[in-house]
Order: sequence, then structure tokens, then C-alpha cells
Amino acid sequence: MKIQEKVEKYLKEIEENNKKGKKINAILQVNPKLEEEAKKVDKKIKEGKAGKLAGKVIAVKANINVKGLNASCSSKTLEDYESAYDATVIGKIKEEDGLIIGIANSDEFACGSSGETSAFGPTKNPSCLDRVPGGSSSGSSAAVAAGFCDMAIGSDTGGSIRNPASHCGVFGMKPTYGLVSRYGLIDLSMSLDQIGPITKDVEDALLLLNVIKGKDERDATTYESKDINFKKEKKLRIALPKVNADKEILDLVKNKVEKVANKEDWESKDIEMSYVDLGTQTYYPLLYTEFFSGTRKFDGLRFGKKIEESCGEEVLRRILGGEEISKSEYEGKYYRKALQAKQLIKKEFEKVFEKYDAIIMPTVPKLPHKLGSKISLKEMYNYDSLTVLANLAEIPAISIPAGEIEGVSVGLQILCKRFDEGKMLSIAKEFEE
Ligand code: GLN
Repeated sequence: MKIQEKVEKYLKEIEENNKKGKKINAILQVNPKLEEEAKKVDKKIKEGKAGKLAGKVIAVKANINVKGLNASCSSKTLEDYESAYDATVIGKIKEEDGLIIGIANSDEFACGSSGETSAFGPTKNPSCLDRVPGGSSSGSSAAVAAGFCDMAIGSDTGGSIRNPASHCGVFGMKPTYGLVSRYGLIDLSMSLDQIGPITKDVEDALLLLNVIKGKDERDATTYESKDINFKKEKKLRIALPKVNADKEILDLVKNKVEKVANKEDWESKDIEMSYVDLGTQTYYPLLYTEFFSGTRKFDGLRFGKKIEESCGEEVLRRILGGEEISKSEYEGKYYRKALQAKQLIKKEFEKVFEKYDAIIMPTVPKLPHKLGSKISLKEMYNYDSLTVLANLAEIPAISIPAGEIEGVSVGLQILCKRFDEGKMLSIAKEFEE
């Protein structure tokens, strides 16, 4: 099929089921130049000059700058903001002839785990229409699951790629901190944010990762890196730490791991980790502090509206909370304490990786709630308890579909040591097959 025809198919699907029909509400804005761009790629393919992503159709989370499109962060604050430039990852995608289909819905400023904090309405979970799709990359994951695109780009600060991937039944990966440039990402928490792929399979995750990764002079935290390849090894050692999650989810993940481990002749072992229950308490003080500081630029003078006057409840809570704990009278003690806890978590993971190739656990401890039902803030923050660990430890993690409970997709996550993406994706592939 010509790329132009594929693009038309996706646009028709969006036309029928994004705002109308199933009303998935995953896409906020369609790229008006898409068809023209697809034509150019078809021409390049014909001439044998096309790049690695030729014809791949990609949705982009609303907190990443795509020149000419609306990086609204799913917020009223930036609803009229048109990006003047491409984020580094977008530049790389375009260079390899990937096509940006449009901007995907998300939680407002990436604050949330359900997609419900978007100022432009919640997204529905395509694999189970009465439930939330997870968040904050709700639209990116739902767009892939709904068949609106081939793949998507999300951002993951404490699980925002993996959580919705898990609930929507797709693959979502958070790379090692520093592997992918954050230039052009409107940050939530700059010491934890990473951009990563959301795809229909492991092969595509590897493909997109290889395109977007690498050193970038505009992001001082990035590293030089070689091409990542699948790295299949025999006799892997898999650690299964004891974590808090619903029993059915724990059982499903354990059974799945045992099945694959038996088939592959891997050794899998239950282990205890001392700090895995500290994730949420460590994550939120860091996030509140950094988010408060990052949002000072939205003062209504430079871009958009003043954030405090235009944002929703969750964003405001984080700004006010961040302001409070950043007060000079506390001399940064909350932030420092959280950094100490982060260090303990990071060290403990490093220790486990001295003995084991990977750690596997559920992605989210609970099933996604029904759209429209109310849950407490504590329950909402607890959704992140297992995903924040990889961000705090600065390691890569991928969520892959593991099965279904009550007709809802459930994901498991594979965590590996820093820059061990090749091994992590190989392990993911064994689960896929
Ligand atoms: N759900 C988490 C939060 O609300 C994670 C967000 C993210 O990774 N962007 O902060």
C-alpha cells in the first residue's frame, strides 16, 4: 500500500472515531500538511532514497514541540501556542521520513495517571471503552490502540508512557535517563522526564528508539550512543521483587513470567527489596519542586496565559504544593530528603542488577477505573507506585501486554540496568512471541 493510502485510512479512522463514533478523543489536532508530506515520502520510496521511518505514521504528545502545531500541553494555558520549532526528537523523526499525524491528548502538563486532567476532555480506552486509558500519555497510547497511527511519542516522568501502554494493551518504553534528548519537551520534572516510543510491537519500539536517541548539544544530560540491537542471551536471571499490587495482577504477571522462563530456560527468583515501597513518597516532593520552578515561565507575558489563572485543579495543586515546600525557611530540606531517598532506590537497583539481568513486576498495581467514577488523590498517586521506580533509578523500563483481567489489558514491566536497552528489548521480544 502506498503511504498516501495508509495516511488516508488513518485520517478516515480519526474522522470517524476520534470526536464522533466511539469518541476516543485521543487526537487534539491533525497535521494539516500530512497528505502533502505523505506524497513526498512515496516519491522518496520510489526513488530508493527514503529514511528509516519511511511512511511510519506517528502521533505526538501535546507537551512536545512540532513546528506549526499546537503544543498545548492539553491546557488552556497554552491553547493558542503554536510551536515555532521542532523538538530534537521530532527533527530526527522528520529526517528519517516519519510522518507526524497530529498532536495527542494527555493529562494537563503531563500531571496525572488517567488522562482525565486534560482541559480538552478525557480520552477513552479503545480496548475497553468505559474505562480510562491511563496517563499521562493517554492520547498517544489510545491513538496507537485505536488504529489512528502506527506509533506514538510520549513522555515519562513517573510512568506516563508505561501506565497508559499497560491499560491500552500496547508497548510503551521509557529509555535510560539521558539516552533521548529532552530539548523541545515542555518539562514536568526535568531530572526525571524522558521521551520514549509507544508502539504495537517490540520491533517498532527498537526502530523508533534508534532514531530518536543520541547526544544533543541542546540537552546537556544526553549521552553519545551506538545503534541499539537485540541482544539475546542464554540463561538469563530474572528477579521478581515483592511489591504491592492487586492479587489477580500479581498472579497474572507471575504466571506469564514462569511460562516464558520455562520455555527459555531462564532462572526466575522472588526477591525482597527494601525501598520499592518508597517510590511515591520520594517522587512527588521532587516533582512538585521541579514543576513549580519549571512553570514560572508561564507568567502570561512570554507565552500563553498565566498558568495559575488558567490551569486545572491538579496542576494548581502541584504549583502551590511546590511553592510551599520550596520556601526559603525550609532551606530545601524536603527536596534534599527526597534526593537522598532517590539515591537509596537507585543504589538498591544497581545492587540487584549485579546478580540479575532484569527485574519484572506489574506496570500498574490496579486496573484502570471507570470513566466518570471518582477516586481519591491517594489512589490516583498510588497508580504510579511501580512505575516511578525506573525514573528514580534512572534506568530503562518497558511495559508490554501480559494478558487481560475482566476484559481489561494488563501490562508487565521489564526493568534493566542503565543503557541495557538491547537486552531489555530482547527479553520483551520473548514475551511477545
Ligand atoms: N502520573 C505521574 C504524575 O502524575 C506521572 C506523570 C508522568 O510520567 N508524566 O506525575
